[in-house]
Amino acid sequence: MSYQHQYVDGTRIHFPIGKVVCIGRNYAEHAKELDNPIPTEPLLFIKPGSCVVGTEGGFAIPTERGSVHYEAEISVLIGKPLSNNPSAEEVLDAISGFAPGLDLTLRDKQSELKSKGLPWEVAKSFDGACVLAPFVQSAEFKDLADIGIRLTINGEVRQDGNSALMLNPIVPMIQYMAACFSLQAGDVIMTGTPVGVGPLNVGDELVLELTGVSRFESSVR
Ligand code: ZN
Repeated sequence: MSYQHQYVDGTRIHFPIGKVVCIGRNYAEHAKELDNPIPTEPLLFIKPGSCVVGTEGGFAIPTERGSVHYEAEISVLIGKPLSNNPSAEEVLDAISGFAPGLDLTLRDKQSELKSKGLPWEVAKSFDGACVLAPFVQSAEFKDLADIGIRLTINGEVRQDGNSALMLNPIVPMIQYMAACFSLQAGDVIMTGTPVGVGPLNVGDELVLELTGVSRFESSVR
């Protein structure tokens, strides 16, 4: 099934699917649960557009590569190019929408790579490693420091975070990213995961929410 960005009302978004820029350890309690130190500067990595899939109809995970962890994350759709130290106003103007997403991670593989000091791509960039729900237009969000993200699996709330808890808030985070490399329309920012990550299993039933704003059901095929 081919993925294309879309809004919650079903409108297709005619941005190409770009890269997915992610930040690691952006919530203190999550860094702690994986025994990671809190970074002194933002820890960035990129997933390619080829790994993006939608939530509709469920999604597949690798079954023979060790544990696959969910990381529910507030995901930001970029609608205008950003580069060269953009101002906060330029970043706000470039944000097109928000969706809940899953940064899927081959956790055993990542731990092995981390212990050897090697890059993480193999653990983070496999096909299907970025699961995105449809976006709600940015005009609906009055306070970017109060966006909730919640993941429920098989009826149990596993992650329940809020952008208020981010070590790097959304706008300065995107300013930092755009100073490192250009962002383009169609790129997505995954803003880090709150505490509560864990393994996914085939057959799991998921509810992914931007709390009080949008809600999507999905499942692991
Ligand atoms: Zn993540």
